Amino acid sequence: MKFQVIDTDLEKIEKNLDEQKARGLVERIGSESIITLVASGKKPLKQTLPLRDHRAALDHVIRWLIAPETGIPGIKSLADINAIGHRVVHGAEKFKKSVLIDDEVIKGIEDCIELAPLHNPANLKGIVAARELFGISVPQVAVFDTAFHSLMPETSYLYAIPYQFYRRYKIRRYGFHGTSHRYVAYRYRLLTGKDQEHTNVITLHLGNGCSAAAIKKGISIDTSMGMTPLEGLVMGTRSGDIDPAIFTFLAQRAGMSVVEIDSVLNKQSGLVGLSGLTNDMRDLLAEEKENNDRRAKLAIDIFCHRIKKYIGAYLAEMNGADAIIFTGGIGENSPDIRSRVCSGLEWLGIEIDEELNKKTVGGKEGEIGKKDARVKTFVIPTNEELVIARDTVRCVLNVPRQW
Ligand code: ADP
Repeated sequence: MKFQVIDTDLEKIEKNLDEQKARGLVERIGSESIITLVASGKKPLKQTLPLRDHRAALDHVIRWLIAPETGIPGIKSLADINAIGHRVVHGAEKFKKSVLIDDEVIKGIEDCIELAPLHNPANLKGIVAARELFGISVPQVAVFDTAFHSLMPETSYLYAIPYQFYRRYKIRRYGFHGTSHRYVAYRYRLLTGKDQEHTNVITLHLGNGCSAAAIKKGISIDTSMGMTPLEGLVMGTRSGDIDPAIFTFLAQRAGMSVVEIDSVLNKQSGLVGLSGLTNDMRDLLAEEKENNDRRAKLAIDIFCHRIKKYIGAYLAEMNGADAIIFTGGIGENSPDIRSRVCSGLEWLGIEIDEELNKKTVGGKEGEIGKKDARVKTFVIPTNEELVIARDTVRCVLNVPRQW
């Protein structure tokens, strides 16, 4: 469970003056949980505690938030939290934008469980726990990972399989990381002074999960993740694109069950599968550099090669773009990966300024491309929580969102 407390309202959104008051992370809910809590401007509090479920985790976080010794200005009791926004992974075709949560929305999120069996139930647990602890009078809002991609054209979202599979089972591309792609495209717009109509960018969210999006006139027209987050780029533990016949082959030749193959493709593939070492890009880069590890290098090379392919495809699909934007743990922090992704793309107009590239790490935002490059290159740290907070304000006040 990840959270932030953000002080915001319509005026603050307009002037970009929203303020983060606290943030935190509860890992390993259900066993000995690892808890990190940070009141803005103070030293992080790290602790371990056995937390039974999401409700216990949220209860612990709230107690800390309102304790006088935590000292968050403006927060003294539960009543000082005016609304709660939740990230929900799958909104399917039902939810194309953020919504105020009521019983019908909860039912709708439940209906999407079939498409996101790992994520949506956890998201619902957070919603139910917040309802129980804050009471029904505190508004809650759901912000969907799929929503930003909901305007993709049929040519991008349909798979070339019998059409009735789409009709009957809703098998199609939905795309994920939408809140992140939307945020970085919005920041790009602010940084460059462009309006939505002139926002033509390729966004690369490279974290543990990785995805690319083609954003034309401010709208996501294609993205690399598919019906589930398994498709597309090479990720920490996911394979990304493979020939679907490999699935059948493994079942017949290796005698693996459907569940086993699904688990291998989601949890033991990608960087960890190729390297046989780890899914952590930092460790792979170190292995390559310090021990000249062949498989670590191979994993990184394949990771970068796949991103290049998507950049090329999206540039063709969009009839050119103005900028490439890197975000996510790897995209924000690894000049080495950014440099390898962009090398050999000069013909397409993408050229990195290595000095700027090296300097732009650790949460820094800015341009890293050569001044005269035809396609600009940016690093923009993502901030999904801010988008969630802003959408929450807008949904509660019933104001249409712009970006
Ligand atoms: P998640 O997708 O789980 O939110 P993050 O966006 O935090 O993950 O990204 C995690 C990835 O970022 C890991 O593979 C980690 O190794 C990588 N990463 C973080 N810092 C660096 C760095 N300085 N250099 C290379 N990779 C990094």
